[in-house]
Amino acid sequence: MIPIYHHFINGQACPASDGGLLDLLSPVSELVHARSARGTVSDVNAAVAAARSQLDSGAWSKLSGAERGTLINRLAELVERDAEKIADMDASCIGRPPIEPRLLDLPNAIGTLRTSAGWADKIEGRTIPTPGYMGAKTLSYTQREPVGVVGAIVPWNTPFMITCWKVGPLLAAGCTVVIKPSEETPTSALHLAALAKEAGIPDGVVNVVTGAGEVVGQALCEHPGVDKITFTGSPEVGKIIQRTAGPLFKRISLELGGKSPQIVFEDAQIDAAVRGCAMGLFFNQGQVCAAGTRILVQRWVAEKFSAALAEVASSIRVGDPSQEGVSMGPVAKQEQFDRVNRYIDAGLAAGAKLLAGGVAGRGKGFFVKPTIFAEATNNMTIAREEIFGPVGTIIPFDTEDEAIALANDTDYGLGATVWTNDVSRAHRVAQSVKAGAVGVNCWAPIDPRLPWGGMKTSGIGRECGLSGVLAYTEEKVITVLIG
Ligand code: NAD
Repeated sequence: MIPIYHHFINGQACPASDGGLLDLLSPVSELVHARSARGTVSDVNAAVAAARSQLDSGAWSKLSGAERGTLINRLAELVERDAEKIADMDASCIGRPPIEPRLLDLPNAIGTLRTSAGWADKIEGRTIPTPGYMGAKTLSYTQREPVGVVGAIVPWNTPFMITCWKVGPLLAAGCTVVIKPSEETPTSALHLAALAKEAGIPDGVVNVVTGAGEVVGQALCEHPGVDKITFTGSPEVGKIIQRTAGPLFKRISLELGGKSPQIVFEDAQIDAAVRGCAMGLFFNQGQVCAAGTRILVQRWVAEKFSAALAEVASSIRVGDPSQEGVSMGPVAKQEQFDRVNRYIDAGLAAGAKLLAGGVAGRGKGFFVKPTIFAEATNNMTIAREEIFGPVGTIIPFDTEDEAIALANDTDYGLGATVWTNDVSRAHRVAQSVKAGAVGVNCWAPIDPRLPWGGMKTSGIGRECGLSGVLAYTEEKVITVLIG
């Protein structure tokens, strides 16, 4: 029996208005493993109406922060109870070894909910001294109000964690939400909405409409009842969202792609740098926004480093992630398989030196090989465009200034890593790289308390931590004439 997943609107599971369903394909077997409601504009209208009516009634937004915090903490407990099940839902949708979401995504998601719960009663205003108004004394203070109904559009690569990066902070701020999960990974968001109900969060606060981006996502961006769109996904769709929601003056936050540099200096601990760079390249089959895919290595150590990284790549066992000893599954879908192979072809055509992997043959399942190119230049397509697969490009450099210039010579600015034992250099370089998050001697140290987001084409706004909560508020100033 193939399971069927319906929308979750106003506290109820409900089918698409026209009964339509989407097939979810396993990237390992290429067989249908589940079906989900194929959302329509009228489904979006119903979900926004539920979220709006709940917001306007104040049943959520006007609870005290402490009360909201208690309910979000209860939700975190339920997510913790079901953590394995949720991790396995995400893993099976995209063919990922379940150990990865169990060890990383779920603890992070639970931490995000708890951190958000902690902020819920600390969303403070300020008292601002001024010279007064027309000779009279005044008292001016600010307060933060929920931005309103949020449309949350989520990608497929780490779906539950990213959903919680949005849902935890927006609930803390007093907003209500319609979540639009990716076509490939709707199941864990639906489970989160059901857990929100079980936690005692009022019906209509957390809604989920599944289906196609061009229908459900587009309808959310156009809907007059939605106040903010929070989007994580590709820069191409990010542009469409700005064109659709921007003219309607919706608040927009965008978490987009990356081409993050990992800068390895000759004074670094090379073994640790190789391990860290391999993790930054191959974690989640390289389908990570912060993947460290441009590896800049100081020339004196480039050959030794490249050989060691290629050895790690060649030793990774790719296959069905449910099998013992397999540490890398397939990429998530046919489109990804074709995309990754196209880029490997482009690397070969540009004359980069292939040290490991290469173009994958097509059997059953979307399996690609961990691939390393060396002796590349920063103007090659493989160094400029986001591949979103397990492909790394090594580019040699001579001086620190050259490394910084290469790191910044990109349209993107999401993450960066500096590998060095020189503490002054570590700070100098970290402060000079244009990226939202820089790790020194560690790749992508993501934490629910730290702001996350990109510069340039990597996005607009920040998620997580206090910045993530304030992003779901409007700041209002009140001035009182006091004599
Ligand atoms: P995508 O842009 O194709 O899709 C993202 C979401 O947008 C999906 O839910 C999709 O259905 C929806 N969508 C598609 N067309 C739409 C439209 N016209 N209007 C509204 N919504 C629409 O991205 P993807 O392939 O799911 O994810 C991969 C991308 O996400 C990569 O570029 C990756 O770097 C990025 N990403 C960024 C972060 C971050 O934190 N910066 C995190 C994860 C992934």
